[in-house]
Amino acid sequence: MKQISTFGASAHQIGDLQLLRDSEDDGALARLLAPCPILQLEAGQNVADGGRARLYIVLRGALAVAADTRTGMADGTISKVLPGESVGEQSVLDEEANLSTITALEQSELLVIEAELVWKLIDASNALARNLLRLLSFRIRAANAQLRRRQKLGEFYRQLSMVDGLTGLYNRAWLNDLLPTMTATAHGAGTPLALIMIDLDHFKKFNDSHGHLCGDQALRAAAHVLSSALRPTDCAVRYGGEEMMVLLPDTSDKLAVMVAERLCERMQQAVVFADMRLPLPHITASFGVATLQPGQDDHGLIAAADAALYRAKDLGRNRVARHKVDLNSPEHP
Ligand code: GH3
Ligand code: MG
Ligand code: MG
Repeated sequence: MKQISTFGASAHQIGDLQLLRDSEDDGALARLLAPCPILQLEAGQNVADGGRARLYIVLRGALAVAADTRTGMADGTISKVLPGESVGEQSVLDEEANLSTITALEQSELLVIEAELVWKLIDASNALARNLLRLLSFRIRAANAQLRRRQKLGEFYRQLSMVDGLTGLYNRAWLNDLLPTMTATAHGAGTPLALIMIDLDHFKKFNDSHGHLCGDQALRAAAHVLSSALRPTDCAVRYGGEEMMVLLPDTSDKLAVMVAERLCERMQQAVVFADMRLPLPHITASFGVATLQPGQDDHGLIAAADAALYRAKDLGRNRVARHKVDLNSPEHP
């Protein structure tokens, strides 16, 4: 291997440099590289070249390269570039400005190769062209893998942000996102959509008597009653506080009332306290049922179920009431 004396304090050999590895004619490359300036950086100092498309090869020290923060793709990615490695190939090849921030992590020495010279080197050396392709391919793979990881993480957090932490039911954000779509789908397909609004009875008293932790436990038990009794297409939501909601796509008014009756029954049987000697029921709830009416939107549907729920409360709690659509229809219960 040929020694290149112009490589500053470091006596580097051409073969040590990643991009020049396995080159056929070190002498020719050395002659082309000889006039390239060497940039000396102190620890913490940035490369200040206004984003010029240039290739830098680290001869000594180490660099931190922070991805461009102005592209909207800013993701805080910082990669470390060590002796023999390079930075800036991509901007040389696509002739775009290099907007990454390059900072020396310690006292460093960089070989600066202008874009025109990179092209000359590519013409002069098949090995360099191959190394460059290999490097770019590696970078694309790494970037894709990172993108996939981010997408997965994003989806994970999105799902997490749609679920209520205490009960595991969907939360209000999920409802706001999905209910308009569900009502539009039901209207479009001409299929029924039922909504059951649920509110635990005298829950303030429950908390006062047993404490908030037991209250939380009761909420979890109530949520379990809902989620374990539903079909896969049905959804249970924690609407807020001790109010929950069940959405039943493709379900008639009559069937929704039957489901609500079943849930009401199971709520009384729900085990809140581990102490089996305590008599049931530990919790009861009131249920308001409504089905989507022609021309009604998601807000209208919720309001109708809410009105029915208040009737259930008025009628004595621990029961199901149906929203009155037709004044002549028999009322339930
Ligand atoms: P009603 O039968 O009329 O619904 O009476 P209520 O006492 O259930 O109604 P109110 O709205 O006055 O009280 C609701 C209670 O639910 C008050 C609040 O402390 C409790 N609550 C709401 N969210 C939570 C929670 O996350 N954990 C616990 N432990 N309690 C909660
Ligand atoms: Mg309430
Ligand atoms: Mg209540």
